[in-house]
Amino acid sequence: MTRDEVGQFLGRHGVTPTSQRLDVGEVIFSKPQHLSAEQVITATRVAGSRVSKATVYNTLNLFCEKGLVRTVNVDPERQFYDPTILSHHHFFNVDTGELTDIPMEGLSLDVKRELPPGTEQVGIEVVIQVRDQSPE
Ligand SMILES: [Zn+2]
Repeated sequence: MTRDEVGQFLGRHGVTPTSQRLDVGEVIFSKPQHLSAEQVITATRVAGSRVSKATVYNTLNLFCEKGLVRTVNVDPERQFYDPTILSHHHFFNVDTGELTDIPMEGLSLDVKRELPPGTEQVGIEVVIQVRDQSPE
């Protein structure tokens, strides 16, 4: 998305497109990707923006609240922001720290039998940890 497109996108979703939000939006909505808040901060700096760390965090939280990005929690210390909103699964490479999308239909899990009594399944999202194969 161009800066203008990001502005229109934010406006359509009830987010006032301030210049700082546009700076963050230009980074996170540029392509399908998974970025930590730190990576977003670095990318805004590289793009010449001086948006503060706190503002980046607040903006990412706002985008989440509005359903424009989703979070993927790999472990308690690592959270990624994902502009692909549709439900999907992930591979997480523990060597490279990289997340890769798995489309919903790429993985089937039948958990019906395992559901706690009196509950129903409302969603399922899986993070599969992988590592680089060691060369033989
Ligand atoms: Zn994803």
